[in-house]
Amino acid sequence: MTSEKEIANSDDDRDRNGNSNCMRGLECPECGESEMVRVQVNTLMELFDNGHGDYFDCEWDEGSYMECSSCDYNGTAKDFRIDEEKEMTKVMR
Ligand SMILES: [Zn+2]
Repeated sequence: MTSEKEIANSDDDRDRNGNSNCMRGLECPECGESEMVRVQVNTLMELFDNGHGDYFDCEWDEGSYMECSSCDYNGTAKDFRIDEEKEMTKVMR
């Protein structure tokens, strides 16, 4: 409730850290890092006898392992999710 005014400042699709794409709505709950985290993904990769080739779309969800690039805090992606239900409601209005 108290953060509604801060959130109201956003005039586009950005979260409170200015992220609007892959990192949108994510930040480290320990140190607030919001530029880069590491996440464990599922993907399909071409595998040959002498190595590997391309890999395809990476998939991850709220339950995926995630760690902070700054302080090494780790948990699941859900732990890094900013509580932005109010913001979402605002955007959809
Ligand atoms: Zn951190």
